[in-house]
Amino acid sequence: MGSIALDDVETPKAKVKGALGGSNTFISIAASYFTKPIYMVGVVGEDFPEEHLNLFKKYDIDLEGLQIIPGGKTFRWGGVYLENFIDRDTTFTDLNVFENFNPIIPESKRESKIVLLGNIDPVLQLNVLEQINNPDLVICDTMNLWINIRNNELKEVIKKIDVLIINDSEAKMLANENNVIRAAKMVMDMGPKYLIIKKGEHGAMLFGEDKIFSAPAYPIEELHDPTGAGDTFAGGFAGYLLKSGDISFANMKKAVVYGSTMASFSVEQFSTGGIENLTNEKIEKRYKTFKELSEF
Ligand code: AMP
Repeated sequence: MGSIALDDVETPKAKVKGALGGSNTFISIAASYFTKPIYMVGVVGEDFPEEHLNLFKKYDIDLEGLQIIPGGKTFRWGGVYLENFIDRDTTFTDLNVFENFNPIIPESKRESKIVLLGNIDPVLQLNVLEQINNPDLVICDTMNLWINIRNNELKEVIKKIDVLIINDSEAKMLANENNVIRAAKMVMDMGPKYLIIKKGEHGAMLFGEDKIFSAPAYPIEELHDPTGAGDTFAGGFAGYLLKSGDISFANMKKAVVYGSTMASFSVEQFSTGGIENLTNEKIEKRYKTFKELSEF
């Protein structure tokens, strides 16, 4: 579950308005390359273009849990990237239909093995989590906005999950600590069994069971749009874990690399363009490059 959005994005290279976005969108498409069907829980308004619904269907995303609110307006977000393509200013966040969203998971879907709570209001993340019976693994992503305005609720969520995925600046903000390793330890003390800290062009780190794994980032010369890279990472990570049926630390290392692989495709084009029409061969080839990059 997570946001399904229409995004206005500006990078040093180009500008798009009303492009398909949202954490749920990137997560679901990325995960669909590993396991099907992905069960999407979310909400859009009547203004949500039919072509986007068709795109979800193309990736075998089960839309039974997607509410379409008559007369409602879809979540909208705007972001402007600075010259370095890393720092970004949010220009607006219009929750619209997410403001009164009441997620309902039908009985048949309450047995889901892996639950991914994508970036959205922690109150909604908790609501969804309470409706699932005994999942094997709960993964959660969040962002600076929720750390700021829903800190207590977010900490409630973090107590109940297995894997928290955040970026380095969010980890520092959550722990109120400037050193990323110390911040990681402090966030682990908040409850999750595993923690993944994404460091953009510097890769990602996995913490858990008193171990640390560090994965590189794919060297990309032509960045186009970093929007959704984190969500795509989470989708690839969860999708691979479900496909392989193994949630050990050793397998999570591979899942981190699959997540990074998917994220590297995502940033090569605007919106979901980079993760559309991929093949298993392309994914495996890039995964292999990741392996070679860090073998010595
Ligand atoms: P990322 O680049 O991984 O941080 O994700 C960007 C996506 O998150 C965009 O497509 C936005 O629509 C969505 N997004 C931005 N802010 C929020 C928010 N506060 N809650 C949920 N989704 C958001």
